[in-house]
Amino acid sequence: MENVKKTIGSFSFDHVGIAVSSIEESLVFYKAMGLKNIHFEEVPSEKVKVAMLELENSSKLELLEPIDNSGPIQKFLDKKGPGIHHICLRVGDIHSVIENLKSANIKLINDEPKKGAHNMLVAFVHPKSTGGVLLEISQPQ
Ligand code: ZN
Repeated sequence: MENVKKTIGSFSFDHVGIAVSSIEESLVFYKAMGLKNIHFEEVPSEKVKVAMLELENSSKLELLEPIDNSGPIQKFLDKKGPGIHHICLRVGDIHSVIENLKSANIKLINDEPKKGAHNMLVAFVHPKSTGGVLLEISQPQ
């Protein structure tokens, strides 16, 4: 790919983000299935409560519940209802990935990495540039 200016290093699958109206109600299903390793936090910048369901291979399911009516997850629920919201790839060097995307004129939602759930640096790529998938890229801080 001629647009890629830097070697990025590793990519791995990190998680699927799922919009839910109630984490508590959603967890009835996941707990019934036997999932136990669950980590809770709030991400005030995104106006969401998060439940991370940790899987054996270090990938996760991320349940996202709106804290109030003005955040992006509430907007998603209003428009589309509960369901898959985004997928997330873990990258070795998020700054270089963003730089490469910008130089390829890819539409980003975040021009700079910001602090996301799980103490990760994250940025979102616009679905218009990815074939309809909201893509999160993340890197451990
Ligand atoms: Zn996510």
